[in-house]
Amino acid sequence: MSPGAAPGRLLLRPGHEIARRETDLLRHLPDCVPQAAIPDNALVMPPPVNAHDHGYGIRTLDFGNLDDALEVWIPGLRLRPRTDPYLEALVAFSRLAQTGVGATMHCHNSLNIDRLVEEAGAVIRAANDVGIRLALSCPLLDYDPWAYDGGPQRLRPFLAPEDWDELSASIPNYAPPSVQIAAADAVAAANTSALVDVQYGPIGPQWCSNALLEAIAEASAASGRRIHMHLLESPRQRQWLDRRFPQGVVRYLDEIGFLSPRLAVAHGVQLRADELELLAGRGVQLVSNPSANLRLRSGVAPLATLPESGPAFAFGLDGTGLDDDQDLWRELRLAHLLHGGRGLTRAFAAARVFDAAIDVGATVVNARGNDDRVLVDYGALIADSLIDDLDEAEVLLARMTGAHAKGLYVGGQEIMRDGKLIRVDHEGARAELLQQARADLPRLSGERRRVAKLAAATRAYYSGW
Ligand SMILES: [Zn+2]
Repeated sequence: MSPGAAPGRLLLRPGHEIARRETDLLRHLPDCVPQAAIPDNALVMPPPVNAHDHGYGIRTLDFGNLDDALEVWIPGLRLRPRTDPYLEALVAFSRLAQTGVGATMHCHNSLNIDRLVEEAGAVIRAANDVGIRLALSCPLLDYDPWAYDGGPQRLRPFLAPEDWDELSASIPNYAPPSVQIAAADAVAAANTSALVDVQYGPIGPQWCSNALLEAIAEASAASGRRIHMHLLESPRQRQWLDRRFPQGVVRYLDEIGFLSPRLAVAHGVQLRADELELLAGRGVQLVSNPSANLRLRSGVAPLATLPESGPAFAFGLDGTGLDDDQDLWRELRLAHLLHGGRGLTRAFAAARVFDAAIDVGATVVNARGNDDRVLVDYGALIADSLIDDLDEAEVLLARMTGAHAKGLYVGGQEIMRDGKLIRVDHEGARAELLQQARADLPRLSGERRRVAKLAAATRAYYSGW
């Protein structure tokens, strides 16, 4: 038997079979994957879910926002060129689908409540056109933009008066909680479908008033709608939230009924052991973004120390993956290595990584029980292998990249064949998006100067913490 032709079946856990062409597992393939479409030495498996992201068609580095400490990096997002939200999302989702990712959590960044319904519609249309599964987190915020513990005024001493006057004109006014929640509900009512799940997206407790957080908890309990929120990403968020909530922000969230199996929190880098226990007890999922946390100097999430009892965790790219190429397979590799520890026995096993990326990821995007599949060119991964029975999960974690994903089936539809998306013109959309972005560069040259001042003021403010 030639290398790679061995009958193989990997049970990541019951139900997570990876089928190799030669095995009788083909009988278990969903109807949407025709047996004839599977080449020799291909693997067919459930695709990993990108469980936290922002749908950047144009990545932050491309408009000059270099990696920095999170709070100093955020002002640079103002340098994002204005483009058509449909095209922006189409390019972002195409890039993901091309790597074999069939579902993504999209945290929308629009801060304008008047535009939310329209922009969400465009994002959803883009996901439908590419053919991927989408969870859309509608942004909700009303507190402390620019600086924790006091908002924009905190930066005033670090800015020249004329710069303050110029910059403060862009401080947003936020609609009351009831209006914001109603907008999210309107997006859900107009767009929920078999492939789309609309969720509440409080950006993070440091950017939400207590009134808003409490209103969201109540609305979610009443409607059953899921919540997706950034939580305790940077050390400075930990510092400020500890001052604001003496009992601890996680305990506060529990007191207001915010914690439930309907909630996923992104990052959680600064979570303490007692808080992890509380999240696990309430059935909350944690979405880890290892590269983003390294690139924006937030640290390493405490996944390695999590007991089997949880909380359950998934993985996301957050628009800032390891090679800046939105390759979730590489992100899984990083997570596997980062949390492997130094012991004689590996606690953070390959099966745990795939369980997180596939199963918990599906929970986060509210798409459990789907029969989506990615077809992997496994033969290329083991072309030089001298052994027939390598563990497929170990091979994937050591070598798999998005380029090895050749086919993708989502919701019963084929969306990629022979490594090419078949429903959209990815390259054409990318070229058009770049053209739109370049047309906005004259406006951004003035903004670049303002952003540099805002970022410097932000760094100076927090350096006193
Ligand atoms: Zn994020």
